[in-house]
Amino acid sequence: MTPSLFIAGHWTAGCGSRSGPVLDPATGEEVGRVPFAEAADLDVALAAAARGFALWRATSAFERSGVLRRAAALLRERHEAIATAITREQGKPLGEAKLEVLGAADHVDWGAEEGRRAYGRVIPARAPDVTQMVVQEPVGPVAAFSPWNFPVSQLVRKIAGALAAGCSIIAKAPEETPTSAVLTVRCFEEAGLPAGVLQLVFGVPAEISERLIASPVIRKVSFTGSVAVGRHLSQLAGRHLKRATMELGGHAPFIVGAGVDPAPVAALAAQMKFRNAGQVCVSPTRFLVHESLFESFVEAFAARASALTLGSGLDPATGMGPLAQARRVQAVEALVRDAVDEGAEIRTGGRRAGNQGFFFEPTILTTVPLAARVLNEEPFGPIAVVNPFAALDDAIAEANRLPFGLAAYAMTNGLVEAEKLGAGIEAGMVSINHSGLALPETPFGGIKDSGHGSEGGVEGLRAYLQDKFVSRRHA
Ligand code: NAD
Repeated sequence: MTPSLFIAGHWTAGCGSRSGPVLDPATGEEVGRVPFAEAADLDVALAAAARGFALWRATSAFERSGVLRRAAALLRERHEAIATAITREQGKPLGEAKLEVLGAADHVDWGAEEGRRAYGRVIPARAPDVTQMVVQEPVGPVAAFSPWNFPVSQLVRKIAGALAAGCSIIAKAPEETPTSAVLTVRCFEEAGLPAGVLQLVFGVPAEISERLIASPVIRKVSFTGSVAVGRHLSQLAGRHLKRATMELGGHAPFIVGAGVDPAPVAALAAQMKFRNAGQVCVSPTRFLVHESLFESFVEAFAARASALTLGSGLDPATGMGPLAQARRVQAVEALVRDAVDEGAEIRTGGRRAGNQGFFFEPTILTTVPLAARVLNEEPFGPIAVVNPFAALDDAIAEANRLPFGLAAYAMTNGLVEAEKLGAGIEAGMVSINHSGLALPETPFGGIKDSGHGSEGGVEGLRAYLQDKFVSRRHA
């Protein structure tokens, strides 16, 4: 088996014999196996992370920045090979995978820059011979859990933030998509990152999170994934008093106000909804369209959706790839069935596609009652629901109805409406009149059940720093 665990500066298959299958979602066939870390491997990783932290925090921010810059350059240089590995194991079109890797390189560069600006401050003292300072220190070794929908960018956001701040990190990347994670970690290794600063592990997720979070070595937990797992890891982090960043699910509203030209908005909606086959935590799902535009928007949106070519992500003609696993197809199919039972109309799609792999048609549902599961649970697949509204306040109330609060989108021609939407929608990120989220320099994160804390931006760096107050009386 390919040695895919990176522990204490060495590539290893671990000390056990367990492994998991890696499938090509376009065919459903096994294309590899990934070794699982055992408890003894994790203990070695923890000891290495403790040593790595001591070393890395003592490395100047200037030198750390140089290593990160070299890693970013290697990611760019190798982006085609890394993207091909993403597509092979996760399914998304190769073009999307390349953008993911290039975007990840930008995140690393941002970390390289911002890590040099982890400024403290001096507070005026009451006595002339006292200096009072607040300094920013790295929080310590991090346990990070990244998901399979963006196998590289989600992993890199955590690695870049932690390393930029001076932390070491043990990253558990997704077992479904290991190869691109391995290739990504190699870039950091070859950039000159000292042994022990970054470890990569795979295994049984619950075993790994329980062992790592309970360890006194780990000082911070970062997780991206479902609300249910986020709740569980938050409890573990709470029990062991570890700081945590939780980037969880969403159910993004997309409000289209009166007077907007429906055709270009529908084109943007289709691009945003069906990217990565809808397996995106900020994917728009609840389209709330002013009643005056409803039919024309639905028609244009459905035309775009049905024109998408389904196929292997490696085929340049493919507009939307397969879902990442068979379980996603089952989940999406059940949501469509339930919505139809509740009275929804299928405007396009609604079925599995092809006779191999995990394909599901781009699907648009209308007249969906609020009781339908798809209007309450994150579909994490290519399903959009379009419902009309009459008054903007009603659309905002619907946007805020769910416990999720990650991303929200709105299209409007009115400045007053735009202000009302920006202020009224309860979400960690609101994007008005375009799709403007997830840049390295901007914070990415949710509120309510979508989690807490940010990745990206100055906020993303602060997530890995802690304040220390030093008051010094001059001798
Ligand atoms: P899941 O809830 O089983 O797992 C979600 C993620 O958490 C996976 O990456 C998994 O490896 C990890 N995980 C599961 N149990 C864990 C544990 N005890 N400790 C540490 N990590 C653990 O769901 P799934 O079938 O893999 O994905 C489906 C759902 O997950 C989607 O419906 C979506 O809501 C959510 N999801 C969200 C994101 C995101 O970007 N926020 C990414 C992937 C999945």
